[in-house]
Amino acid sequence: MNSSSSSKTIGIIGLGLIGGSLALDLYQKGHHILGISRAHQSCRRALERKACHQVSSDMELVRGADLIFLCTPIGSIISTLEAILPYVSASTILTDVASVKGVIVEKCSMLCSNFIGGHPMAGNARTGIEAAQYNLFRNAPYVLTPIETTSVESLEVMQDIIAELGAITYISDPYEHDRSVSWISHLPVMVSAALLESVNSKAEPEILELAKNLASSGFRDTTRIGGGNPQLGLMMAQYNQEAILDSLINYQQVLQEITDHIRKQDWISLETILQRAQSNRPDFLRD
Ligand code: NAP
Repeated sequence: MNSSSSSKTIGIIGLGLIGGSLALDLYQKGHHILGISRAHQSCRRALERKACHQVSSDMELVRGADLIFLCTPIGSIISTLEAILPYVSASTILTDVASVKGVIVEKCSMLCSNFIGGHPMAGNARTGIEAAQYNLFRNAPYVLTPIETTSVESLEVMQDIIAELGAITYISDPYEHDRSVSWISHLPVMVSAALLESVNSKAEPEILELAKNLASSGFRDTTRIGGGNPQLGLMMAQYNQEAILDSLINYQQVLQEITDHIRKQDWISLETILQRAQSNRPDFLRD
């Protein structure tokens, strides 16, 4: 297999939001897509939606694939890789899409020398094959986390595929990735869920009722990710515990500072924080 973006046989395991969306785009780009999912319904819909050329719940389908994406939930990436190893040749490149990289890259690289960790930074609150969409990854960052033993060829193949998806490659150390996404993805999930939890559990019933009627774009924006897939949030915490705890503790300190400023009517300090927030926010937004 050469590292150009010529047509490849690509296995995609876990035909949900991310796996299905990869399948749709890569099918359209002319690759031969082998889809594996446990549910018959996921397989059937992947064929109907022209996301895959062949589907099965049997891992043996990936035999002969040039490249395989592991797109199952974080907690089953390692067991999925173990299950496909008997059908994978020495030249097959394996990659995953899990939102946590440190632990996964460490374990998967020990099991397979041709594994390269990946994380497309795109998604939405829905799950399953029906949620899959074209161009989900367009203009989004796609992080690759090669380690010392990763071959240059695997890295180049992945960079070509990411370019075909219209995404932007970032290279990172797996644990630095985890610390970074803890701040901009995993902490926000917890903060957003905590916001929903506090409103629901602490507001008096009649105030809560009115609040529900008045909630508009601001509340929708700040609670979007907290109202997403609970299993994904849970696994982010379980598999990135150290980094997420660090971010949460620092966040609580800032929240306490804000609370103190309001209690002491220290409006100058509060305004300074709000002004810094306003001027720093654009640095985190690509568009
Ligand atoms: P999803 O829509 O639930 O898709 C996962 C698919 O994997 C399911 O449709 C399911 O299909 C299959 N699956 C579920 N449990 C499994 C298990 N125990 N063993 C094997 N297969 C299983 O979830 P997703 O959002 O695509 O997330 C998949 C991966 O993408 C995760 O590792 C996540 O960290 C990563 N990711 C998610 C986002 C996001 O915003 N959602 C963004 C970037 C990366 P069957 O029932 O048919 O098997």
